[in-house]
Amino acid sequence: MIELEGLTKRYGDKVAVDDLTFRVRPGVVTGFLGPNGAGKSTTMRMMLGLDRPTSGDVRIDGTHYDRLKDPLTYIGALLDAKAVHGGRSAYHHLLCLAQSNGIPRRRVDEVLDTVGLSAVARKKAKGFSLGMGQRLGIAGALLGDPKILMFDEPVNGLDPEGIHWIRHLMKSLAAQGRTVFVSSHLMSEMALTADHLVVIGQGRLLADTSMAEFIAHNSRSYVRIRTPHRERLLDALHQEGVTVVETGGGTLEVDGVDAAPIGELAARHQIVLHELSPQRASLEEAFMGLTAESVEYHAHGQAPAEAPPAPPEGPARPGWGDGWGRN
Ligand code: ADP
Repeated sequence: MIELEGLTKRYGDKVAVDDLTFRVRPGVVTGFLGPNGAGKSTTMRMMLGLDRPTSGDVRIDGTHYDRLKDPLTYIGALLDAKAVHGGRSAYHHLLCLAQSNGIPRRRVDEVLDTVGLSAVARKKAKGFSLGMGQRLGIAGALLGDPKILMFDEPVNGLDPEGIHWIRHLMKSLAAQGRTVFVSSHLMSEMALTADHLVVIGQGRLLADTSMAEFIAHNSRSYVRIRTPHRERLLDALHQEGVTVVETGGGTLEVDGVDAAPIGELAARHQIVLHELSPQRASLEEAFMGLTAESVEYHAHGQAPAEAPPAPPEGPARPGWGDGWGRN
């Protein structure tokens, strides 16, 4: 368990992390989401005692990081995969870590095997690809067999095979009952990996919720319909009290009704349908909306939006901002 209490970090006038209070629980993957510059790395560095908070507190299983004896046996972290001495082999990098942290030598071979680097263990790390470097960083995090694991943007720059591998590893670590805390600026990636989400923007907490709740609140579901008998279908739907949104390209969108009753209604009226498909607006869109105000640098010099942008070509999506602590 990781507990943050009013955690704050200022750099001069800049508030990088602003009064964060949340818990990261064992047994699930917790995604730590926010746009670039939101304060994720700074928060993680404070969790590991690498940065001192301006105020507030972080506890790792009830204790401050710098008071943990052999901290690598409590918490393992991948922060910057390039922070490896390039002249050393993967084996020697891990052996040095093990020896300076009271970890038995046999763990080096075990973690090299876990991350799939046994075959290149004696090669110098500077010749490693980005993906191999990430694997070596993860091997370091796993070395002390810790109950808590933290990964900062672990899939950045990886190929699909590497991304798949990391996703699977995180889920299996959580299934073993460990606490897994992983940051990303990509909602789509987190949607596939995390069970729980902590979302921040400009250092502030925006959401602390299960992934299932986040999806239910933030992704609009609707049915898309195409028909050559547009007017007749509109009449039939209106008679049933169903609200229809007419979008471009001859399609209709219906909120709050399943596809089946719409199909049955069309059949009763002998209306031909060319498409009747349930849709879900993407979580990426929901995440962008949630964090739109807090994105530090906008493309093309645009000012930050006042409110989450209206989704393209549709009515206001239900569920925006409900209980997400936006202010
Ligand atoms: P993220 O990991 O979410 O991309 P960071 O934690 O790296 O965000 O950065 C949060 C904010 O704090 C950014 O505005 C960044 O420029 C600023 N920041 C981070 N480290 C420092 C530092 N050492 N000195 C000054 N500002 C910093």
